Amino acid sequence: MKKQIVVIGLGRFGSSVCKELYGMGHDIMAIDSNPETVSTMSDYASHTATADATDEGSLKSLGVRNFEFAIVAIGDDLQASVLCTLMLKELGVPKVWVKARDQQHQKILERIGADRVIQPEYEMGVRTAHHIDSEKVVDYINLSENYSIIELAASKKVIGKTLGELNIRKDYGCMILAIKHGEDVNIAPLLEDRVEAGDILIAMGHKDDLKRFEDKGL
Ligand code: ADP
Repeated sequence: MKKQIVVIGLGRFGSSVCKELYGMGHDIMAIDSNPETVSTMSDYASHTATADATDEGSLKSLGVRNFEFAIVAIGDDLQASVLCTLMLKELGVPKVWVKARDQQHQKILERIGADRVIQPEYEMGVRTAHHIDSEKVVDYINLSENYSIIELAASKKVIGKTLGELNIRKDYGCMILAIKHGEDVNIAPLLEDRVEAGDILIAMGHKDDLKRFEDKGL
């Protein structure tokens, strides 16, 4: 479904969010205080505007209150990012996601009502560490402190076997949510589905169980 999204701050993070969402067909308003930055985004947004996002009058005249989603990606200017987030919430924007530079910034943003706070460098660091720790891990999503979804490359141990034969749920307490085979994704695979060479298993479970499966089952 097409969403109305305003992206504020068009640095590396904001511009990539903006381009990607626009490419997916969403209705995007891209705002930055630097006119040169704004002009580079004219092909990647439905509307662009040069404005100081800490100025309430500017936000109002741009009709920001009519958007259902806002991404605040103002880099290191903590004061501007906090002020802008606060105003967006006061104007009634239902979902405000904000980029934070560190833990302290994240805490403040959560207190003032940001609906989600993202720390790109920190989060990417965690993912990178998981990839290095286990080269079998293709991708990684944290569901909570204890539960995750991971993508694991099928190893010799499992290739040629059916999910029923592997008995992953019983032996390791993990669920195989899907099997990726090239461009095809078999969602909700059946017990009789066989793992083939090059497949990627998408598994969900407790972190300890996933680790056990990764170490012993693969
Ligand atoms: P990144 O780390 O994502 O590259 P940057 O710090 O390089 O982030 O970019 C932040 C962007 O936010 C810049 O393009 C800057 O012009 C913009 N910006 C900073 N303050 C404001 C503000 N008050 N209103 C609108 N845009 C702002």
